[in-house]
Amino acid sequence: MHELAITQSILDIALQAARDQKATHIREIRLRMGPFSGVVPECVQMYLDVLAKGTLAEGAKIKVTTVPLKVLCRDCGREGEIDRAHIACPYCGSLRLKRLSGKEFMVESLEVDE
Ligand SMILES: [Zn+2]
Repeated sequence: MHELAITQSILDIALQAARDQKATHIREIRLRMGPFSGVVPECVQMYLDVLAKGTLAEGAKIKVTTVPLKVLCRDCGREGEIDRAHIACPYCGSLRLKRLSGKEFMVESLEVDE
């Protein structure tokens, strides 16, 4: 059910942005996600297909870009980026990391019809 709640908030953000732009239809919703968000893009798309029915976002496609997570190393004090394949400090290999990136996902931009 994780993705359902997320999809609803993505849709709310996208619809608000589209109304602000006076768009008539949303074609694509571009998202940025952290590597550990646990969100499955296919699930978001599936829920969006259902939730967006009858709205400006009906038929919109989800496009996801995965971005590395910014971290601060508690051992060497340097800032670095980690992803699923590299979860240790890139400088000293420590696992004692503090997460710096705020949101695990965000709506980056929309492709809309005016
Ligand atoms: Zn380090």
